[in-house]
Amino acid sequence: MEFLSRLAKAFELTEKNFDYINIERAIFLSYHCDLRDCKFCYMSTIKTGPKKGIRSIESIFAEAFLVKMANWKVEFLSSGYGVYDAAEISEIVRGLATITGEPVWLNTGILEKESLDIFGEELKGITASIETFTEELFQEICPSKSWDNLMKFLDLANELELKKGLTIILGLGEKREDIENLFEIIKNYKIDRVTFYSLNPHKGTIFEYSVPPSSLYYVDIVSETRVRFPKLEIVTGIWSDRVNLVGPLLLAGSNGITKFSWKKFYGSKLGKSLTSEIEEFEKMSNRKFNGSMIDISLLKNKLEFPKNPQYKNEDMEKKILEKSDEIKERIQSYILEIKSLK
Ligand code: SF4
Repeated sequence: MEFLSRLAKAFELTEKNFDYINIERAIFLSYHCDLRDCKFCYMSTIKTGPKKGIRSIESIFAEAFLVKMANWKVEFLSSGYGVYDAAEISEIVRGLATITGEPVWLNTGILEKESLDIFGEELKGITASIETFTEELFQEICPSKSWDNLMKFLDLANELELKKGLTIILGLGEKREDIENLFEIIKNYKIDRVTFYSLNPHKGTIFEYSVPPSSLYYVDIVSETRVRFPKLEIVTGIWSDRVNLVGPLLLAGSNGITKFSWKKFYGSKLGKSLTSEIEEFEKMSNRKFNGSMIDISLLKNKLEFPKNPQYKNEDMEKKILEKSDEIKERIQSYILEIKSLK
């Protein structure tokens, strides 16, 4: 199918199958990773000692409360390898699910069956960060990770009836035609969600002087994915300098936008620009964004749990309230930071 016909088809299919536009926020558990050798990753440039950059639980929960207040979605709980064990992660996941009222996706690396068994209804799904279209390129780019183990992890998630997501970074050197391999994985492993990012060339990595993929290539890949998988959830990442990609990505079949710095965006010129991209798109679409990127009055320093949650855990609510002073202190400092960046 020609590019323009495919784009039109992708738009039509997305309109038929979805009624929402989401802002998705990946909440980071830590800015540490034991591996630190994926060639695109800024963590590969960090030479600090072990376990630096681990966030406090209060700070993670404070961020979740703010995400909920702005009516965004928690895309997943994310971290590098080797930071927390499964019991600690599951406690944090229960907290996040209690705050947002929705089960949570994980993107914390491969977990064994015994570890996944610790989780209950608070866990919605897991993510396999395969990063690119083929095993060969993946092993070149992420030498310490195993493609086979990621595929086994997806099999395990199927067995445990969890949802399954993939992350893909465009611009790592993939060949356009190898996208068929990605489509085989989506089909064979019954993938529910794919998050696409475009390469952000980090200083100190081998991609430092690379050029990120063109906007039309990004739109082309997203639209082809949508046409092949009309009901797949597709999330697309943008960076602060690529806000104008939002409209075209939504047109091509994206359900949600992620990866930008929320502190820099919320209530600022960047947030207004993102809002204008979404509003212009809404004029031609039935899909709606029900959150905000600009309204600072929505961000309040109080801890409220959702009224009609999909997930509720009264014990966890009590535990969170026991830490309310520390969480509110973090919320206050986030709000001040957001205001100071305007
Ligand atoms: S596993 Fe993740 S955090 Fe660790 S180096 Fe690779 S991409 Fe970066």
